[in-house]
Amino acid sequence: MAPDGRDDGADARVVVVGAGISGLATAYFLRERLETGAKVLVLEGESRTGGKVRTASVAGHPVDTGPDAFLSRAPELRRLVDSLGLADLVVEPQSTGTFIWSRGRLRRLPPGTAFGLPERLWPLLRSGLLGPTAVARAGLDLLLPPTPLPEDPSVADVVRPRFGAGVYDRLVAPLLGGVHAGDPARLSATSTVPEIAAMARSGRSLYLTLRRRRRSAPPAPGRPSAPLVSLRGGLGALTGRLTEELGPGTVLTGTTARTIERDAAGCYTVRTDHGTVTARQVVLATPAYVAADLVADLAPRAAGLLREIEYVDVANITLAFRRDQVPALPPGTGFLVPPAEHELVVGCSWLSQKWPQPADDQVLVKAMVGRSGDTRWLAMDDAELVDGVRDALRRMLGIRAEPVASLVQRWPGAMPQYVVGHAARLSALDAALAAAPGLLVTGAAYRGVGLAGCVAQADATATSLLAAQGAHA
Ligand SMILES: Cc1cc2nc3c(=O)[nH]c(=O)nc-3n(C[C@H](O)[C@H](O)[C@H](O)COP(=O)(O)OP(=O)(O)OC[C@H]3O[C@@H](n4cnc5c(N)ncnc54)[C@H](O)[C@@H]3O)c2cc1C
Repeated sequence: MAPDGRDDGADARVVVVGAGISGLATAYFLRERLETGAKVLVLEGESRTGGKVRTASVAGHPVDTGPDAFLSRAPELRRLVDSLGLADLVVEPQSTGTFIWSRGRLRRLPPGTAFGLPERLWPLLRSGLLGPTAVARAGLDLLLPPTPLPEDPSVADVVRPRFGAGVYDRLVAPLLGGVHAGDPARLSATSTVPEIAAMARSGRSLYLTLRRRRRSAPPAPGRPSAPLVSLRGGLGALTGRLTEELGPGTVLTGTTARTIERDAAGCYTVRTDHGTVTARQVVLATPAYVAADLVADLAPRAAGLLREIEYVDVANITLAFRRDQVPALPPGTGFLVPPAEHELVVGCSWLSQKWPQPADDQVLVKAMVGRSGDTRWLAMDDAELVDGVRDALRRMLGIRAEPVASLVQRWPGAMPQYVVGHAARLSALDAALAAAPGLLVTGAAYRGVGLAGCVAQADATATSLLAAQGAHA
């Protein structure tokens, strides 16, 4: 690799490994704040950038096969979207409402349900999601004494004693399965859903705390009203624009980092298949298990902690149907399936109903498979996955038609799990990385799995790098 634009004797001031949203945003924020001429390099193993952000085409429609929405009120991500000139592309869902496949039927999640926790009991009873006994048990939350919680409670530790097994199995578990592909009995409430953990600590009754929270946080005027938004044409525009802004001299695709060494002067050498690149600072914006291999010699204790971060394999299957061949879908954006139903499908988005798209004679649905403890899909080939999803759609939505197009997207090792002990592991990791000054990790494995969390961490990572540069200037 020909070193150009030497920076203090090194090829670059900072080398970022991984050009997913985390690596690209870290490099972008650095470039915004560094003096002109300071070189940042991003090494990406694949031939494309974006990582899990991927917009494909199904029957001529853009389909996000990784993330398809982001939190509209996340400040760092909104600032990034604005600064990339993408604000005009922001779109809100066309319809609202989620269904749960429960006890043989699709049942609407009652309005005012936050993270699967009910804010009102009467609509919960009317939804038929739970039987009357389970709803009455949920109401006991109002009467029960405070629940003693361990230092880092799981989501189950917080929810089950207050609302009972019904709410936990039929509401919370499918919602967390849809977002994190995780098992709420293992996920840390504080690290995964900090809002639930904070509510559990701030009052005796979760139900009353939820209602107070809603009353004290009315929607802010002038902002998108939907909590989750997307970009017209797909979220690939976000990582695509970041890549363009950084430029081909900065982002090197097809360049897998293989090893990292540090010399006596504290300069890092990253070895790739095409040569080596040197820098004073290195950011690993890869999955944690890749970062573990890269730091194994430099910081073995950090490598061990990185390897402890668990991942779940997921996939999604998008099917396009002729509109005149499928029954009308219920008004809403899709459905989720509780693990207790033992279905292959974890959830399904009704894409053509969820996001604006040109008037068209096709219906697009995207089904998710795979979650913690359910790896059945790994043994299935693409045709079997399509058949499995069609079987579910036949029973759940009455769709019997042949799809006109299909796309299977496999994401092995894709969903990091913030299991109980995650925060303590991160503190230990920070301490262990002190063995390699100037080497940082950032991304979905650490302090926020979603795009908003990744961009917020990228912002903080850029700030830390600059602070360290200032300290050593
Ligand atoms: C199916 C699915 C749906 C999701 N839905 C949503 C959603 O709707 N909303 C939301 O906010 N979030 C969602 N997420 C989460 C979100 O997409 C991810 O957490 C986020 O995109 C991760 O970004 P990242 O940059 O940290 O990691 P990645 O996207 O994994 O990027 C890491 C990059 O590092 C590269 N790399 C790995 N090893 C090396 C190496 N040795 N050398 C060089 N490069 C290397 C990889 O090729 C990759 O490009 C979803 C995730 C999945 C899988």
